[in-house]
Amino acid sequence: MLSLMLGLGSAQAQETSVARPEPLRVVASFSILADMVRQIGGEDIHLDVLVGPMRDAHSFEPSPQDARALGDAQVLVVNGLGFESWMPRLLDAAGFTGRTVVASRGVTPRHLTEAEAQAAEHDHEGHEDHGHEDHGHEGHGHEAGAVDPHAWQNLSNGVQYAQNIAQGLAQADPARESAYFARADAYVHQLRKEDTQWRRQLAAVPPDRRVLATSHDAFGYLGAAYGIQILSLVGVSGEAEPSARAMARLLTQIRTRRIGALFLEQGSNSPALRQLANEAGVTLGGALYADTLDRPGHQASTYLGMFRWNAQQLLSAWQTDPAAD
Ligand code: ZN
Repeated sequence: MLSLMLGLGSAQAQETSVARPEPLRVVASFSILADMVRQIGGEDIHLDVLVGPMRDAHSFEPSPQDARALGDAQVLVVNGLGFESWMPRLLDAAGFTGRTVVASRGVTPRHLTEAEAQAAEHDHEGHEDHGHEDHGHEGHGHEAGAVDPHAWQNLSNGVQYAQNIAQGLAQADPARESAYFARADAYVHQLRKEDTQWRRQLAAVPPDRRVLATSHDAFGYLGAAYGIQILSLVGVSGEAEPSARAMARLLTQIRTRRIGALFLEQGSNSPALRQLANEAGVTLGGALYADTLDRPGHQASTYLGMFRWNAQQLLSAWQTDPAAD
């Protein structure tokens, strides 16, 4: 208990709760992790999130306020796999001395395939000056072999995340270890239940109909885990409109692969994707969440809710739309 009375958090001490130790001060890098941390930390933590709901983690620019929150934190939870490219600089600025928990530790990293890299290359033709370290999705790097950071799109990886987070919180705050592990157990149970249910629903969809065509290459783990073919129209986003040649190539792909639906990503309007769907005569499915949760009050305001939402958009498009021919 004494170990919890750290000077750093003293401003937050509440005189009314003398019996309760101060909450562990935790910062999560982005909204999806923040929800997981909240599920496991419960009332035992004080949580700040750097990239909040409906904000883009790729183009995030930390503020002095973020540096202050991090400077006061005892634990930082990050995704890893190269997702938070802006973190090293922020850590320096914040003078963070706490414990860093890499939520993805132990998951099998997925690398971008040759085809994904090629698609990206094509779409980047003509704006070479963008560079891969520029803001936007280039943050991932699109070279074949580059690590795909979006591991949370596989619920089994979500389980691994939850276990890593619980272990990290427990190590930073051993007095409340059992509370963290108990919550993590209950949460993992929910994640596994959702995984089973989703697999059961998927089994009703013929494998050749399970194609997810969208703009941002964020669903590779989903595809690999659940037998969904992913066609990422990389570069087809609100900010980088594809050339006429790229559009023609995409149209051909949609037709030859008999793709029945295209899916928008939350937060990106992508007129190009709408135009493609129109020209190809395919359904434009509901918008999927890739890197962010929605604001409180929406179904996708939690990791589980987000996963379920995405699954529902996919299932309903696959079930209602006959394959184009
Ligand atoms: Zn992403």
